[in-house]
Amino acid sequence: MPDDNNKNNSDNKGSDDEYEKYCYLCKRPESQCGNFIHLPGGMNICSDCMQKSFDSFNNMQFLDLSKLPNINMSQFMPFDDVPKSQKVKKKKKKEEKEEEQEKLSLENIPAPHKIKALLDEYVVGQEYAKKVISVAVYNHYKRVLTDSMDDIEIEKSNMLMLGPTGCGKTYLVKTVAKLLNVPLAICDATTLTEAGYIGDDVESILSKLLAVADNDVEKAETGIIFIDEIDKIAKKKETRSRDVSGESVQQGLLKIIEGADVDVPVGAGSKNAMTPITSMNTRNILFICGGAFPDLDDIIKRRLNKQSSIGFSADLKDKYDKDKNIFSKVVTEDLREFGMIPEFLGRLPMVFALESLDKDMYIKILKEPKNAILKQYQKLLRLDEVDLQFDDSAYEVIAEKAMEDETGARALRAIIEKFMLDIMYEIPRDDSIGRVTITGDYINGKGSPIIELRGTQ
Ligand code: ADP
Repeated sequence: MPDDNNKNNSDNKGSDDEYEKYCYLCKRPESQCGNFIHLPGGMNICSDCMQKSFDSFNNMQFLDLSKLPNINMSQFMPFDDVPKSQKVKKKKKKEEKEEEQEKLSLENIPAPHKIKALLDEYVVGQEYAKKVISVAVYNHYKRVLTDSMDDIEIEKSNMLMLGPTGCGKTYLVKTVAKLLNVPLAICDATTLTEAGYIGDDVESILSKLLAVADNDVEKAETGIIFIDEIDKIAKKKETRSRDVSGESVQQGLLKIIEGADVDVPVGAGSKNAMTPITSMNTRNILFICGGAFPDLDDIIKRRLNKQSSIGFSADLKDKYDKDKNIFSKVVTEDLREFGMIPEFLGRLPMVFALESLDKDMYIKILKEPKNAILKQYQKLLRLDEVDLQFDDSAYEVIAEKAMEDETGARALRAIIEKFMLDIMYEIPRDDSIGRVTITGDYINGKGSPIIELRGTQ
């Protein structure tokens, strides 16, 4: 019997060995592709096919199959632990990113003088505005971060900034938000209308902030909202129809600015049945409004002239006519006359003005800020190993041209882009150029820039 058994075994072995093994996937024989990997169920797989299967699993990482409907994961991923380990990895990466951006806390919130020093690196002039904003922002975040203010409740320090166009209102707010690493939404008051009318509802400004904060309600609730062109929602004078984009918008903004729980449409300008809604508390959101307030200077002058022309100390009637920074003398009464409603003004306790830019400031804006536009061009050309220089006359001419434009510092960029186009086009063409000096004459179109070759500088 034992002999028979042995015989059978050796027969079977013989029959298995008689046939060469083939790879289950590529069907090549073992003699061609080397030793096989034996899987349960009698499957043999060559090392090439095994590697390919691993590679394709790795490439599938970006495609989260679990999110596709009606897909049986086991069909694609025979190894149970693969999706789990991927998920863990993703979570880790997100955590690392969050850690990188330091959150604002009571310990790391910079003192007002430090905030101002940081602002000085970017914003030229506007000393008073920088001081006010540094103190207001510091107090605001101290209030937000301590939260438990016993019996003395600190009020919000919302702000109203006045100043001509292009003098740095938006830039100042943007810089503060960047320095403090808080979400900032910049909105335009001209697009707002009363609910139900064509245009954006007032809640849309909160939607914007929520979007900037990656839909993180808690983060958005401590952000900053800058409402530009606030003068455009002044009460319309002599209107017989309903003032849907003026006084009504101011009314609508009242409760949001003061602090309330508001239903906010997520990712849309107005509420309707199709948009998801979330609730947001605006108590800790800092509101900064800005506007150019054209013709407000006449109102201020009229008031000042009226005051000074009465009594023994009467002044000359045109004393204030040439005062360039008349906005700094603004009082609430002037803004009320302009068309802002008292309730609205009452919610913006800090009112201050920015100076209009003069020639010296324009020149400083060109040269000094950390990311000054001329520095940007110099850096670009340095990559081509070309030294870009501007002589004093060039700065003067650019500043004079910008002043004619009356669009503030925005004009600088337009002027510079125009004459830099030729330079940026021509210089990389010639390897021998080592230095280019831009002169006032060149900007005026009367000459060419001074070009020095490499080795002769
Ligand atoms: P507005 O006062 O109309 O809001 P912005 O703040 O948008 O004007 O200014 C436009 C651009 O001009 C800014 O992006 C900034 O580059 C430049 N700018 C304006 N004022 C200053 C300033 N005081 N210092 C440095 N750059 C300025």
